[in-house]
Amino acid sequence: MSFSSRRNFLRSGAALGAGIAATGFTPRRIFAQNSSFKRIAFRQLGSTGEKVSEIGFGAMNTRDDELLEAAIDMGINYVDTAWVYMKGVNEEMVGRVIKGKRDKLFLTTKAISKNPDELMGQMEMSLKRLQTDHVDLMLFHVTNSREQILNNDVMKVFENARKKGMCRFVGVSTHENQAEVLDAAVESKFWEAVLVGYNYFSPPEVGKAIENARNAGLGIIGMKNLLNPASWPWKELDDIRTDKQKEDGKVTAAQALIKWVLEDRHVDTTIPGITSFEQLRDDVAVMGMPMSFGKRRSLIRYGEALRGNYCCGVAGCTGCQEQCPKGVCVNNLNRCLSYANSYGSIELARENYAQLPRTSKIDICDDCDECVVRCINGLDLNETIRRARELFA
Ligand code: SF4
Ligand code: SF4
Repeated sequence: MSFSSRRNFLRSGAALGAGIAATGFTPRRIFAQNSSFKRIAFRQLGSTGEKVSEIGFGAMNTRDDELLEAAIDMGINYVDTAWVYMKGVNEEMVGRVIKGKRDKLFLTTKAISKNPDELMGQMEMSLKRLQTDHVDLMLFHVTNSREQILNNDVMKVFENARKKGMCRFVGVSTHENQAEVLDAAVESKFWEAVLVGYNYFSPPEVGKAIENARNAGLGIIGMKNLLNPASWPWKELDDIRTDKQKEDGKVTAAQALIKWVLEDRHVDTTIPGITSFEQLRDDVAVMGMPMSFGKRRSLIRYGEALRGNYCCGVAGCTGCQEQCPKGVCVNNLNRCLSYANSYGSIELARENYAQLPRTSKIDICDDCDECVVRCINGLDLNETIRRARELFA
């Protein structure tokens, strides 16, 4: 069945509607019950004392107000956007939808600038677009080093925002060098949450750093759970399921991958990007699912099918770091390209590319006939450079 509109979605009985009731809790998790979905599960976000749904709403690429509305009606209470998404249009969409529902939600946005003086202006603009006087969590976006995390000027701006009541909690996001960033966030004794690229392909040190950070009281939000391939064989992956499995509604690739992240009890919530009612239905259904033997087997099959197509940089791979004689970080280019390849959004790819440091700009590659950087997972990085030239030069 296709759920191409909110009306179809509601008719299907898949939406929870009003009346979600807490039916029990553990120190870490609370469940809400409904006749359609088995349960909406909540976890405590670090030491904030806040309960957030295990599946959050990653709004980055969402243009449809009704999708977010439906998600909130179903009981998703964690909503993620950023100053930079869609040049502000995304925060405006979120602002429209959450009007009148603000107190039900844990709202997160992000400020991104290398210049600390610009951060406060971005935060003020975000609140205007979101039509609220505060967000719950304000993140310092796209960090990748200890130096950035411990930057006193940046911390002062975020502290100021918290004091003014513009946000209740402060944190950082990281798509690269996750372990270093997580360790530094703990060391800072300042940041309260980390939004971290984390998935099936993450190296063990990222999982260990997440565990340490969560044990130190930081809230952990997993992103890039659905992988971020340099090329996107997603449909082929779903086809791995037999017809019988599809009929039975057996776990999809997306569900298995999100489930893998939620199996880590040190992760408090996840923010899969949601752009259709089908995705919303599938993602919500993951909450509270046990990770059965069958799901593990599906996940291994999906994972193996992806190997060689997927840049694990957003999951913490550092295998190509410092190989380029000119200092270009190819993994950064792959991340930007993935927005075009996996979300089909060249605009988003270019927005993210614009935020890269000067040292990762594609014109630096102009003098190279062939890229000498080698991917430990066998990705063709000459193809990365070719595609980056095509989109970003
Ligand atoms: S080594 Fe390959 S998979 Fe790892 S970050 Fe570099 S390009 Fe991506
Ligand atoms: S093309 Fe040259 S400059 Fe660019 S990443 Fe490869 S080796 Fe570095």
